[in-house]
Amino acid sequence: MKNLRSYDEDSFAFYELVRSRKRDAALVARLTAMDANMRLLFDRYDQSFAANDLQSLNAHGYVNQDKADLGELYEYDSATLSKLKDRLTTTPSGRLVKCQYCTINSISTFDHFVPQGDFPEFIVHPKNLLCCCGDCNPRKGSRWRNAGQRTVLNLYLDTLPAVQYLFVTVDIGFTSMATAFYLENRNGVDARLFALLVDHYSKLNLYERFSDEADTVITTFRSVIEPYRENHTLQETRQFVLETIRKEQIAFGQNYWQSVLKLELINNDDFLIDYE
Ligand SMILES: [Zn+2]
Repeated sequence: MKNLRSYDEDSFAFYELVRSRKRDAALVARLTAMDANMRLLFDRYDQSFAANDLQSLNAHGYVNQDKADLGELYEYDSATLSKLKDRLTTTPSGRLVKCQYCTINSISTFDHFVPQGDFPEFIVHPKNLLCCCGDCNPRKGSRWRNAGQRTVLNLYLDTLPAVQYLFVTVDIGFTSMATAFYLENRNGVDARLFALLVDHYSKLNLYERFSDEADTVITTFRSVIEPYRENHTLQETRQFVLETIRKEQIAFGQNYWQSVLKLELINNDDFLIDYE
């Protein structure tokens, strides 16, 4: 999980660009007639975004024809939104392929951070769109705030801690391995941010989803260690693995679940004993 760089040009100009690509003249005319209001709403979003206070936004309340017209603007596969996706996933260290909500699946859609059902006005607000996967998107759904607090991380706005907060226990049996991921605030993460992390991991069911994928990771990990171990000491093997984990964390984030799992494994004597 890594922080993402948000769209940094004029939000309303992006909205106008999306609208300009629509071929239905009557639709465009109806949407254009809403411009004065929409500009105000976009300004309000941009201000709340800048203050990291999206949870205090109120829905304008567009319904019926207005809501349906705004809904026409969002097409994931349209050229304008594809370009936005390319832009949002291009980073100095390469193209982001994985959904950063889970870091399990590939990106396949946009999450409307402020939900499109309640806030159709922000259906193509470029700062409201986060690249994510088809598993995370419905899990997050429209439940994004509760009692004035957000319950899902906004990876544009919430700075992820640079310390470990995701942990895993590995129970190694004769024929199988059971993993249990959990969050713990051992390293002094700000209490509110930690509570938000807990909400995020629970809501997206990340603990179970990581465990479901863990066997594949462990199998691949073994296939990397085994040939290396044949010609190196245990100490050298540990060093080699630590180096690869460090690189992985740079690419996928400090609390990348696969790195957390591998770190636990190389420190687990039951796991490395096979290689003694
Ligand atoms: Zn995901």
